[in-house]
Amino acid sequence: MSEQPTDLRQRVERVGLVLALVCTALLCWAATATAGPTVTRTVYQPGELIPIPASIPHEEGDMIDRRILPNLRWIAERYPIYVTDGYSGPLPDGSHAGCDNCHTRGSDHHNGLAVDIAPVGGGTKCDASWAAITRLALWAEPVQGEPAPPFRWVGYDGDAGHGCGHHLHLSWNHAVVPEFELAEWVEVFAVGPVVPPQTGGEKPRRKKRAAPKAPPPGPSGGISTVRSGGLAPRGGD
Ligand SMILES: [Zn+2]
Repeated sequence: MSEQPTDLRQRVERVGLVLALVCTALLCWAATATAGPTVTRTVYQPGELIPIPASIPHEEGDMIDRRILPNLRWIAERYPIYVTDGYSGPLPDGSHAGCDNCHTRGSDHHNGLAVDIAPVGGGTKCDASWAAITRLALWAEPVQGEPAPPFRWVGYDGDAGHGCGHHLHLSWNHAVVPEFELAEWVEVFAVGPVVPPQTGGEKPRRKKRAAPKAPPPGPSGGISTVRSGGLAPRGGD
C-alpha cells in the first residue's frame, strides 16, 4: 500500500518526460516548417528572361529570370499562388513585359528577380482565400523586416501597398546591377524532391534521359547563343 503513491509519482514523471520530449519535437518541427528555407546557394550561371511556364498560374505575358524558376515552381507546388507580375521592363525586341511604371525605381522587378503574388481565385478582400499566402509570407519573412535568405525583400502586412487582400512581393538576393539588366549572381534556396503535403508520398517523376557520353558532332555543341537579357528560345518549362 505505501509503495503505490511512489509508483504513481514515477509514472507521472515518466509521462511528463515523454510529453516534454514530444512537445520539444513538435516545436522544432513547427520552427522548421515556418522559418523559411534552410539551405541556400548562389547561382552564377548567366541569367535569362523567360516566360513563366503554364504550370505556375500567372498573368499572361509575365516573365522572370530563369534562375529563380525552380524556387517559384517549388513555391507553386506548395502554395496556391497566382503571379500577377514578374519582370517589368523593356525586352530586346522592343516590346515591354510586365506592368508599366508600376514599380519603384531600383525595384527587383526591373531585373526579373521579383514576383508579385495573390492567391488563385482570391479577391481583393483579406479573407480565407488569402490564408495560404499569409503562411507563405510568414515563411519567407518570419520576423517583419527580416526576410529569410535568399529573399531580399518581402512585402506583405505592415508594408504600404502590400499585404493580405492586396499582394505579396517576394524578391531574391542578387548582385548589384543597373535597372533592366540581369544580375551577375542570384541567391536561391535548395529545392528537394516534391512531396505533396496531403499524401506525404513522393510524386512519381519521369526518369530523365541519360546524358550522351560524347558531345554530338557538328558546330552546335550546346553553346548558347542567347545573350544575357535575351528571350528564351522556348517556353522555359
Ligand atoms: Zn512587387
